[in-house]
Amino acid sequence: MILVFLGPPGSGKGTQAKKVTAERGWPQLSTGDMLRSAIANGTKLGLEAKSFMDRGALVPDAVVIGLIAERVLSPDCKAGFILDGFPRTIPQAEALDLMLAELSQKVFMTVLFDIPDSELVSRLSGRRTCLKCGAMYHVVAASPKVEGICDACGAGLVQRDDDKEDVILKRLAVYHAQTAPVAGYYDSQRKLRKLDARLPQTEVLGHLKSLISN
Ligand SMILES: [Zn+2]
Repeated sequence: MILVFLGPPGSGKGTQAKKVTAERGWPQLSTGDMLRSAIANGTKLGLEAKSFMDRGALVPDAVVIGLIAERVLSPDCKAGFILDGFPRTIPQAEALDLMLAELSQKVFMTVLFDIPDSELVSRLSGRRTCLKCGAMYHVVAASPKVEGICDACGAGLVQRDDDKEDVILKRLAVYHAQTAPVAGYYDSQRKLRKLDARLPQTEVLGHLKSLISN
């Protein structure tokens, strides 16, 4: 079963993908991980991707699609896989469909993790991270015992740049301009299912499981 998880940064799709992977064994494919491993292994596509990244340019869709195609053919993807964070644009979605069709495969379902911007801003901008041990906190939802101090290791907590409000708003603007239309693309193929990503993680997972088993 080939699933696409779609949603803005902070919607929890990556976390949920990990849970589905743990339960069903379908690998979670992230283009960032695939790029890193192709570059580390010095594959042809990896070297090609690196030549763009070294110039500070975006890796072309054709290279990313090539990486996914290689990955999809590995044995662990045979029963299915989850694309997390790809496609991000309609041209990528079209290229993905073409590539899968050549392999006699297709996307089975796209799950949209739906959540209002205001909720994302409060979720993400409240995050605090321990740089020493990686523990994460939230100023409202999961505050440490002592403000600004990690419960686990006693180091100071920081707000990462990615969690600052102006950075979040910029990422959301890109999401609404480029990625939100991808939901419409899959909806026109009748493959789109929406999840209320405001709900607690266990409830989101419950809904996700019922979507997958239907
Ligand atoms: Zn810590």
